[in-house]
Amino acid sequence: MADDLGEKCGIFGVSNHPEAAKLTYLGLYALQHRGQESSGIVSSDGNTLHAEIGMGLVADVFNERRLAKLPGHTAIGHNRYSTTGSSQLRNAQPMVIGYAGGSLAIGHNGNIVNATEIRQDLEQQGAIFRSTTDTEVIVHLIARSTEGKLADQVVDALRKVRGAYSLLLMTEKELIGVRDPYGFRPLVLGRLGEESYILSSETCALDLIEAEYVQDIQPGEMVVICDGKVEFFHPFPQTRHAFCIFEYIYFARPDSIIFEKNVYPIRKALGKQLAREAPVDADVVIPVPDSGVPAALGFAEEVGIPFEMGLIRNHYVGRTFIEPQQAIRHFGAKVKLNPVKHFFRGKRVVVVDDSIVRGTTGQKIVNMLKSAGAKEVHVRISSPPSISPCFYGIDTPSKRELIAANQSIDQIRDYLGADSLAYLSLNGLLQTVSPDGHRFCTACFTGDYPAGAPSEELLQLELF
Ligand code: AMP
Repeated sequence: MADDLGEKCGIFGVSNHPEAAKLTYLGLYALQHRGQESSGIVSSDGNTLHAEIGMGLVADVFNERRLAKLPGHTAIGHNRYSTTGSSQLRNAQPMVIGYAGGSLAIGHNGNIVNATEIRQDLEQQGAIFRSTTDTEVIVHLIARSTEGKLADQVVDALRKVRGAYSLLLMTEKELIGVRDPYGFRPLVLGRLGEESYILSSETCALDLIEAEYVQDIQPGEMVVICDGKVEFFHPFPQTRHAFCIFEYIYFARPDSIIFEKNVYPIRKALGKQLAREAPVDADVVIPVPDSGVPAALGFAEEVGIPFEMGLIRNHYVGRTFIEPQQAIRHFGAKVKLNPVKHFFRGKRVVVVDDSIVRGTTGQKIVNMLKSAGAKEVHVRISSPPSISPCFYGIDTPSKRELIAANQSIDQIRDYLGADSLAYLSLNGLLQTVSPDGHRFCTACFTGDYPAGAPSEELLQLELF
């Protein structure tokens, strides 16, 4: 069974450059925020694919010695985030296979909602899977296609899947990029010099290697790059677009251009809209760093209250800590964030974050600020209540764990221990992000899934 519901990942590919693997390594560095569990690069020297894949951050997995094992002019790379339990090397990407058509490497950002059904079908016909990822389902479908050319095999395979995918595929000679017809996840094309082409989840990775942003790969578009030439295809029936609105709210880096707009000003505008909808009389506005910073700046600017970095984040915190035997209260939150105490004594504080998932961060922060002497703590969230899990590639917990799916706003305020709590309205969000609103997937706030959800049975079993 595909147990990886919710994979948020970063993908990066280079075609026609003598240092393809090194550029890919740098690209993955810039995309580290999209996945921290594993990292991998596959390169092609024109005859053979070479793969180096490991668990951990890009900096942990790669060094000069490993990069030297990745020769050639074409490469693709992948940063993966997965839910616990499925964080294993066998699920790390890019996935490399040998099949009747030759060798193929594939890197996937997104999530296929009918992967379990297809997998069960294929297994009944004798297929053997080596990972638990939905990406391997796509690989099997490609290998079984009766089409002659790889691009046609890929189209054949993708016509059978439902869900979110931005994909990179690479053979010895070709680099292919595809975005699903809804366009859930981003994918951009860049150019370096006259002849090298780049495909990346976000433009911040193009900036690092000084590549020029050419254009977004459009929803349902496939780009085939070979020998310095780019060809575009539109093989899928058109459907409504459903760009992930959460890329703008939280996931993408604020310096990236996502869906043809820069993320930072959008986050700031969300903070301003929030301030118009839910103003508050207070002494200071602070963000939850780093995710709440642009929205808090917008909020402070709109209400005319000073903005301060009242919480300082430790940027070097890993995933696990060795705690002293005598337990320290709220250790997990404290090791990451610490209040600048003199700001808070007797103050009325507005604290801004982009979202509440389970409510644990918010509760700890309110507690910290009150312990630091804050008189009032008002929580403001620059997105609507998160009430439904994402099935299209953002890692969110099941509905049972989403606090806003189970409690009213007043109950959440009490849980956080805040003096007031307000979320941005869905209308305010859509008005700010795109006045027509129709191009976006808002499933996490509405439960309306443009490409459907996994089968009922799966929902019952795993998610609710
Ligand atoms: P929680 O403590 O569970 O309420 O999580 C809230 C925090 O998680 C906020 O600071 C968000 O910026 C951040 N956040 C929101 N969505 C995600 C996600 N998909 N993965 C990791 N962190 C997230």
